[in-house]
Amino acid sequence: MDEGNKMYQVSCDDVACGFTIKGRDKDELVMVLKMHAKNKHSLDAADEEIQAKIKEV
Ligand SMILES: [Zn+2]
Repeated sequence: MDEGNKMYQVSCDDVACGFTIKGRDKDELVMVLKMHAKNKHSLDAADEEIQAKIKEV
C-alpha cells in the first residue's frame, strides 16, 4: 500500500507558541520543527524526540 494519502502532524512543545505543521513526509516535518525550535526558541531538538511526537491525521 502506498502511504501517499496519509498526513502527519506535529506541534511545537511550547503551548503558548502554537506552531503546528502538517505534511506527508515525516522527515520533512522533523526538519521543519527542528528549524523552528532553533530559530524561535534556540532549542536543539533530537530527531527521535520529534519523531515520537508526530501524529497521523
Ligand atoms: Zn514554537
